Amino acid sequence: MSSGIPDITLNDGRTIPQLGFGVFQVPPAETRAAVETAIEIGYRHIDTAQMYRNEQGVGEAVAASGLDRSEFFLTSKLNNGYHLPEDARKAFDRTLEALGSDYVDLFLIHWPLPTLYNGDFVQTWKTLEEFYRSGRARSIGVSNFTPHQLRRLRAETEIRPAVNQIEVHPFFTNEETRTYNSENEIATEAYSPIAQGEVLTDPAIEAIAREVGKSPAQVVLRWHIQRGDIIFPKSKTKARVEENAAIFDFELDEPSMATINSLDKGEKGRTGANPDTMAWIPEN
Ligand code: NDP
Repeated sequence: MSSGIPDITLNDGRTIPQLGFGVFQVPPAETRAAVETAIEIGYRHIDTAQMYRNEQGVGEAVAASGLDRSEFFLTSKLNNGYHLPEDARKAFDRTLEALGSDYVDLFLIHWPLPTLYNGDFVQTWKTLEEFYRSGRARSIGVSNFTPHQLRRLRAETEIRPAVNQIEVHPFFTNEETRTYNSENEIATEAYSPIAQGEVLTDPAIEAIAREVGKSPAQVVLRWHIQRGDIIFPKSKTKARVEENAAIFDFELDEPSMATINSLDKGEKGRTGANPDTMAWIPEN
């Protein structure tokens, strides 16, 4: 890409830009404008979800860009109330309609919900396999899956997830799941890459930022890029959206990478829900 964003090749042969734009907590009425700004800056990979209720704004921004649909990489995710196959099929149709496209580049199971649906996320995955086989989801993957859940999918289904989108940032490096992913050729997508802002005032990160002449956010995003993970920081602020993309003209040395790795706080560092207990179904 002209903006210098590298592509990552997935286990199904498709490619995904390593940096994208996330729209969690962008209000539906503001999403079109936010995504239009990101597109102007050079982002082509957008991460949305049925749960965010802003897929339509993403679709409108893509349509208004005047660029070909094939220039974009759009991800969406199945909402928690729709895990039964027939519900998932209808919800997937609504996603394509909202995006204004006859396909989505990547479709994920948002949460495994092991305490709901009799713990049967396998039937949900088999439904995503249908979407993949029909070509309406070019790639399929999961989000918030732990190694034991991925092992079960591996044993009971045919298609391996292309990605596992999980919380990863310097305070919660999530190494066990990242390692399982990489050993099984599943790309790691690191969500909340700056821990929703929490890591930016860490003194070690501030010191590295001063040393390399970049902002703390750029340092942390660069750390993810050098670890090989896919990221899509979210911001409603144009200057920050620009800043977050300007991370391909510098490199962190090994000691800086090791310092950031060492900030991991384990479970205490997690900002989002724990996938083993998450059981929230949003109201319609
Ligand atoms: P992020 O780690 O991307 O942080 C977003 C917050 O950081 C916002 O408050 C934003 O403020 C602020 N921010 C962004 N850039 C900068 C900057 N350069 N300097 C200072 N502050 C900054 O959190 P998210 O949780 O949004 O994660 C990113 C994406 O990951 C989501 O949008 C979503 O696509 C995905 N995600 C997926 C989940 C899942 O379960 N699969 C769960 C959570 C996220 P402001 O907007 O005010 O500028």
